Amino acid sequence: MAAARRKKLILTYVDSLRTDMLERAVAEGQAPTFGALLERGVLVGDCVSSFPSVTPVACSEIATGLGADQHWISGMNWYHRLERRYVEYGSSLEATRAFGVFRALYDLVFNMNLAHLNPDVETLFESLDDAGARTACTPFLIYRGRHRHPVSLEGLMRRAIETTRLHFRHHTWGPTDLFYGDLYASREVPCKSTSIPGVRDPYAACCSVELMKDDGFDFLLLSLPDNDNYSHRHGPEATVTSIARADECFATLVAEAGGIDPFLAEHAVILMADHSQTDVHRGLPLAELLAAEWSVLQPSDDRPELAQLAVSPTGRAAHVYLLPGEGERAEPEAVRRRLAEIEGVDLVCRLLGEDGAPLRREQPGMPPAGGEWAVVERGGEEVRFRPGGEVEDLRGGRWELEGELGVLEATVADGRLRSETYPDPLARVWSALTAPHAGDFVLSLQLGFEAVDWGGVTHAGGGSHGALHAGDSLGPLLFVGCGPESAAEREQWTLRDVAPVIREHFGVAGAAG
Ligand SMILES: [Zn+2]
Repeated sequence: MAAARRKKLILTYVDSLRTDMLERAVAEGQAPTFGALLERGVLVGDCVSSFPSVTPVACSEIATGLGADQHWISGMNWYHRLERRYVEYGSSLEATRAFGVFRALYDLVFNMNLAHLNPDVETLFESLDDAGARTACTPFLIYRGRHRHPVSLEGLMRRAIETTRLHFRHHTWGPTDLFYGDLYASREVPCKSTSIPGVRDPYAACCSVELMKDDGFDFLLLSLPDNDNYSHRHGPEATVTSIARADECFATLVAEAGGIDPFLAEHAVILMADHSQTDVHRGLPLAELLAAEWSVLQPSDDRPELAQLAVSPTGRAAHVYLLPGEGERAEPEAVRRRLAEIEGVDLVCRLLGEDGAPLRREQPGMPPAGGEWAVVERGGEEVRFRPGGEVEDLRGGRWELEGELGVLEATVADGRLRSETYPDPLARVWSALTAPHAGDFVLSLQLGFEAVDWGGVTHAGGGSHGALHAGDSLGPLLFVGCGPESAAEREQWTLRDVAPVIREHFGVAGAAG
């Protein structure tokens, strides 16, 4: 197919969009444009998110088509074993302040793309840039591409940075056109950027409409993040309101094209979520609880060598790291026992060496031995697994499996494992545990609980996400004018399937790590 006749493609992601809430918003007449897409497209209602099911991990999965073991982004917060510090991408304003606004901004915008994201895997922007497609990105966590963008400080962010006398001078690499609020804007647009959570969708839509006026892209990533903030505050059941606002923003692109039919004659669309949300009613102060028995590394601790544990809350999941400090080390078995008995902890996941002993991970990356087992513990029982056996998952992965399948509420029939409660559990837990920056323990919390972040914040009374549970993990994935003929083409869809569909649309193959 000639490139000239290939439809442009707009990947639209609505943060924390739930399939049932999307359908409710459409049924109530609050999301007519999304409704028009649903009528014309192929809907996968239960696309499986990453684990932890939080935006940095999920967006990396969307942008690369790979899991955390290959893209290397492990959570909203994680511990850097080489730099002996926490990386914080902005769990909350308070958490950002606990680590220092500049440090968190630097990690979020610059390090995430140019230092933390595996340099040996390709993002969608890189694959398509290399193929000569014109790529564009509105503010999205993962934007790494082949084009140099000078920093352009505008508005609020500029004043904040100037008044603190901190100079953010870092140019970056992004798509052909990059809009990142106050920091990067590859062309002048009459769009008002804001870094205030909950009012960012209109900026993304405005930049997109300006690009359309210039016929400025072949591939556009339109990010609509505000639904996440609304859902955290008011709970997922209240999100008809925020979905309606996202729909209004998307509708400005459709209006620019002169209506839904001319719009879709020119553009293919993917509409999707990064993860879902469930109601939360209790905060779990994990660092505080563990600090009763061990010394836990504090934000911006100037003596990291004295700490025994690092704790990285990441929504309804958490990483716990055993530190090779100068003092007495925490005993892995004692930490495991304590984690397993904490109220609100659902799954305790860890790796064992081939010999069955706990792994000591003192450097980023997997130890070289091979043959490790992943162990998941719940309610005093455990199941262990590793790649390469007789049991097949719903995506064709093969696993060697021992222990109590009930831990994952899984059944095996005809040699195939499935779990309604924890979708795609083996591949997701394996990817989370073997990622280079994974904790020695990865926790998934019970429904209703959320880990308190380093700013002391939870969304108790509202919604959250992060767990392996289906409620946090399953979201909509809608293809219009691209992708499969039918949702049944795969038994189970995950975020990892999106990048290959987009690369295929543009006739390019992706380079995996
Ligand atoms: Zn969120």
